[in-house]
Amino acid sequence: MEISTTLSTDLVDDQKLAAILENPGFGQHFTDHMFTVEWTPERGWYDARITPYGPLSLDPATAVLHYAQEIFEGMKAYRHDDGSVWSFRPEENARRMVRSSQRLALPELPEEDFVRAADALVEVDRRWVPDSAGEKSLYLRPFMFASEKFLGVRPSQHVTFMVIASPAGSYFKGGVKPVSLWLTEEYTRAARGGMGAAKTGGNYASSLVAQQEASRHDCDQVVFLDAQEQRYVEELGGMNMYFVHADGHIVTPETGTILEGITRASVIELAGKLGHQVTERRFGIEEWREGVASGEIVEIFACGTAAVITPVGELRSAQGTTPAPASTDLTMRIRQALVDVQYGRAEDSFGWMHRIC
Ligand SMILES: *Cc1c(COP(=O)(O)O)cnc(C)c1O
Repeated sequence: MEISTTLSTDLVDDQKLAAILENPGFGQHFTDHMFTVEWTPERGWYDARITPYGPLSLDPATAVLHYAQEIFEGMKAYRHDDGSVWSFRPEENARRMVRSSQRLALPELPEEDFVRAADALVEVDRRWVPDSAGEKSLYLRPFMFASEKFLGVRPSQHVTFMVIASPAGSYFKGGVKPVSLWLTEEYTRAARGGMGAAKTGGNYASSLVAQQEASRHDCDQVVFLDAQEQRYVEELGGMNMYFVHADGHIVTPETGTILEGITRASVIELAGKLGHQVTERRFGIEEWREGVASGEIVEIFACGTAAVITPVGELRSAQGTTPAPASTDLTMRIRQALVDVQYGRAEDSFGWMHRIC
């Protein structure tokens, strides 16, 4: 893939950039450039380019606006103390995007092109990667959508892949604290044969009303059960879950209808290194309630790129409230171990980090 570059002549000035990086929030500010490549069945991927960041002009009949043929990824670039910039397992995001594209009948972007696209954007916008203090990073958002102007229902014959980047502060302002969860018994996220394992906007669209339900009950996040039996824990709107048992072993819901988080997979390996066996299996909501009550479940946590790892507190539902588990010790140890690798403060024994510049 040949990438052409047209640099912006209207860069955000240093003073404004410093103010943004001081307090970036999440997903509010975007870097000076963006990456785009397009696809048709005849040409394959073509016209890879970095251009000044700016709005797209889309025909009102553009397919994605009607039938949601869209997928995305989320990853971060981290600045290490020596000034170098790294991403975390980007080839895993590339592979997952291939799996998502297979499910959504979108073309496959080769893994190496995905990684090069993200690297190229970070290189031109490297001044947007915040210092490592306070767990700041540059959030990268690769996404692919049906860009053909056509209202028939079939896979789009014109597809656009882009990468945009946005500086991100720590998910937790004022320190890590447990999230409270609302158990939705009204809505599910994904059924067998559905799109649960694909990272696609539709899954988020369908989760919003459940998240509203959670907010109405004063909870931070919503937890979904399986669609078939309404009994097994799946995941949160955008985070995978873990249950730490009194004897140290950890259970995480098996894959299938959940999103296969890269943080999830990394936590399984890291926990193993810390001497904790992780079992992937179905985990019932009653096992949660009874386990916390009996002391068998000592910690619960959730993970994803945005929050890294967050302890889970109280579980609320129409059935009543299950209190927060007793401890967050192991959760915080695994969290620290992961963050230390990402910011280059611990040895990268799994070879997870990818140097960009
Ligand atoms: C992206 C995502 C996650 C977390 O995946 P990571 O690769 O760890 O960031 C979990 N659940 C859903 C629904 C997601 O979309």
